[in-house]
Amino acid sequence: VTLTTPARNTAAHPTDAHPTDADCRLPVLGDEVRAPLAGGGEIGYAALDYAASAPALRAVWDEVAAYAPYYGSVHRGAGHLSQLSTDLYEESRRTVAAFLGCRPDDELIFTRSTTDSLNLLAGALPAGTQVFVFETEHHAALLPWAHHGHTVSYLPAPRSTGQAVATLVTALADAAPGPKLLCVTGASNVTGELWPVAELATAARRAGARTVLDAAQLAPHRPVDITALGVDWVAFSGHKLYAPFGAGVLAGRADWLHGARPYLAGGGASRAVTAEGGAVTVEWQDNVARHEAGSPNVIGACAIAAACRALTGAGFERLVAREEELLSGLRAGLASVPGVRELSLFGPQAARVAVLSFVVDTWPSEAFARALSERYGIGVRDGLFCAHPLVRTLLGADQEAADGCEGPLKAIRVSFGAGTPAEHLERL
Ligand code: PLP
Repeated sequence: VTLTTPARNTAAHPTDAHPTDADCRLPVLGDEVRAPLAGGGEIGYAALDYAASAPALRAVWDEVAAYAPYYGSVHRGAGHLSQLSTDLYEESRRTVAAFLGCRPDDELIFTRSTTDSLNLLAGALPAGTQVFVFETEHHAALLPWAHHGHTVSYLPAPRSTGQAVATLVTALADAAPGPKLLCVTGASNVTGELWPVAELATAARRAGARTVLDAAQLAPHRPVDITALGVDWVAFSGHKLYAPFGAGVLAGRADWLHGARPYLAGGGASRAVTAEGGAVTVEWQDNVARHEAGSPNVIGACAIAAACRALTGAGFERLVAREEELLSGLRAGLASVPGVRELSLFGPQAARVAVLSFVVDTWPSEAFARALSERYGIGVRDGLFCAHPLVRTLLGADQEAADGCEGPLKAIRVSFGAGTPAEHLERL
């Protein structure tokens, strides 16, 4: 049984000089799903909510299906299937570490999601760590630090990437001595805007602070290289990276992780346990197993590794070029509709990935999103997108427009990726 698939390009290879859009996109599960229309009939479903969960790539599904009949318990058995599963799990770890450009001493922990990864790190910070985070972050990046008892400096929303760096530099200059951490998101889940991660990490490092990158929205759209970016940790979720199962990743420097209380107490995390005289003593692992107690999610890890191979095989350069072309067409189309306004923190010219939010004058977002679904078979998201302070900041200027709406003003979010046919965006 060969459990690993060599890097491959899952898209059709165009042979003529003018490849069609179908040649360039990556096949995903759900391509054939049809949605009922309110007026009767049905239409091919346009999934435009990749930022919440992206459909799985067919290549990922195929690899998982090839492995599924062979799985056994990881790290816990001498049998053939346990050996295969252990090899696959550890090889998945190496594949993902290579995808992220990890340094030789970095650890890569398989978690449940980005939220899980950032909470794990929050629980592993040395006592007295001061955390710096912009108040406009996704709640997964905003909330874990205070929840785990750390002192947090919430930095005000910057209106340019330069202002983000300047704000951080000022905040760090005023900080007391001691361990410090910056948590920053690579690409916004609301506006798709790219944050100046390398510049922020450099500013943090100069002030003696470490950086964790929330790459939940960045990793599906751009290469993430932990070494080139100069960040200390990276977190992301498999289900946003075209992998179907409940697994995520925390990768980065080992020292704070090895020195920390295990995330969960249980088997796997413990090296030796003794019971004597009514007392139980435990010696915890001092490697990656310390934070992976319990039976690991080997299928989830396998799916993430398969997604990393498929994206690398397809080539980010090509994926980004297609995405940027589709995104600029979509933005131009939306800009031409009277009463539609795109939300932006850094301004319309800022670099961004294929995630955008907008408001429509006199339409409550919930009704608008429902209409898109019922009349056109288009699935988008509406609301405040688990980034309430950010969306409220962006909507600030639109409160007057809300007068024509029923209910509180919220936004509509469209997001897409490597599996999206151009037709879905044209329909929108
Ligand atoms: N960070 C960002 C920027 C996100 O967009 C999300 C999810 O939308 C998360 C973190 C949390 O990801 P998960 O729900 O997979 O834990």
